[in-house]
Amino acid sequence: MVARRSEVFTESVLWHVDAGAPEVTAAPLPSSADVVVVGAGYAGLAAARRFAEHGRSVVVVEAGAFSTGASTRNGGMVIPELKAGPGALRERYGDLGTRMYAAVNEAFDWTEQLITEAQIPCDYQRTGQLYLAHNEVAHRAMREAVADHRAHGEDVRLIEGEALRSEIGSSAYRAGMVIARTGGLQPARFHAGLLRRCMALDVQLHAHTRALAISDDGPGAHTVTTDRGPIRTDLVFVATNATADHLLPKLQRRVLPVGSFIIATEVLDEELAHSISPHNRMLVDSKNLLFYWRLTPDGRLAFGGRRSLRSTTVADAADFLNDSMVRVHPQLAGTAIDFAWGGEVALTVDRLPHVGSFDRVAYATGCNGSGVALMPWLGMRMADAMIGEAEAPPFIDLRHPPVPLSRWRRLWTPIVGSWFRMQDRRR
Ligand SMILES: Cc1cc2nc3c(=O)[nH]c(=O)nc-3n(C[C@H](O)[C@H](O)[C@H](O)COP(=O)(O)OP(=O)(O)OC[C@H]3O[C@@H](n4cnc5c(N)ncnc54)[C@H](O)[C@@H]3O)c2cc1C
Repeated sequence: MVARRSEVFTESVLWHVDAGAPEVTAAPLPSSADVVVVGAGYAGLAAARRFAEHGRSVVVVEAGAFSTGASTRNGGMVIPELKAGPGALRERYGDLGTRMYAAVNEAFDWTEQLITEAQIPCDYQRTGQLYLAHNEVAHRAMREAVADHRAHGEDVRLIEGEALRSEIGSSAYRAGMVIARTGGLQPARFHAGLLRRCMALDVQLHAHTRALAISDDGPGAHTVTTDRGPIRTDLVFVATNATADHLLPKLQRRVLPVGSFIIATEVLDEELAHSISPHNRMLVDSKNLLFYWRLTPDGRLAFGGRRSLRSTTVADAADFLNDSMVRVHPQLAGTAIDFAWGGEVALTVDRLPHVGSFDRVAYATGCNGSGVALMPWLGMRMADAMIGEAEAPPFIDLRHPPVPLSRWRRLWTPIVGSWFRMQDRRR
């Protein structure tokens, strides 16, 4: 059904309205720098800041406006997760699994600490996550996941049947798992905070500057060719998330960009908002093509997901998400939506983040939809590693497999999407 759009409805990002982004004055592009960072999302900005803290001259080139990437468009859920619990990761990856799990938790702690210490006004609150089982298979898996997390000392609770009503105003799910270590923030305000921190250390920030090619000019020497001219540099960090473009073809073959969309309702009556999510949790369900939703700091419901892996328009996605939202929360029937937007998530074959280098060019990618805490931390840690101040994050020890038949992905992603949907419909 077509969603009811309010009179002020716009296909744009709710978070951009009140981002508090600093004015960055345009300047001539320098011809050289110690480091060039490609991409001004969380990963690029956190890396740039770290390089600058180590006394390096840093240039960030961003293809679009600074608000272009997923970092100002996401759901704002700060979640330390790797799509599997600590025990399951250890079983699959041995000691590396344990180190990767520790890394996402370190990333979560670091992000919380950064927000507090740098006083980034991004409405951060640790309200917890409610992860919801959509069918019996997921319910059984959830029981095991709760046991796994609890065995590792985590504050995680299983809630089943009627008791779930104290957590969510919906009868669409069989069980839920409350995970204490999760928070919510206003993503564009967090991004603005990172921009400001870069400016304070004289990082040179260049919007509307697309990197077109990177040449390897021998050990410690590169040229980054941009559409505004070349920059000679010692180090290059590519932080382009899902869009590796032709910059690093080997990286491009290893990441699958997939659209994710969000609608935001009009501001809700307080009682209605409370009936939906009494504890203001970050809500996520267990489907392959999952939904994620939350109350926003200004009292709306933001509801996100995707119908399939096919490319689609924001308008279509908005209608699908509105239908889905009302199926989960019938009390929202007739509520208008004010905003709808989309962005790209970087998927990898093993659904894990990856860092590394190709042809002496370093990168971090593959948030698989959970990068608010992870990507800035990976950026910061990669900067440390690139200048020899620390070891690279453990994800460097993962094999980074190419996406099979990546050149024909437009043909096969819809088939995988249909298979996901079929699985999701199982009772
Ligand atoms: C709709 C949506 C909802 C999400 N919700 C959540 C959530 O609730 N919680 C969570 O943890 N994660 C979520 N994510 C994922 C999270 O937003 C990302 O993991 C994170 O923002 C990635 O940060 P990044 O710095 O790697 O990339 P980005 O923020 O995407 O930045 C990459 C930048 O690189 C630029 N770029 C690309 N190519 C070039 C080039 N050739 N030259 C110059 N610049 C270039 C792009 O323009 C872009 O600005 C969501 C993502 C989306 C799209």
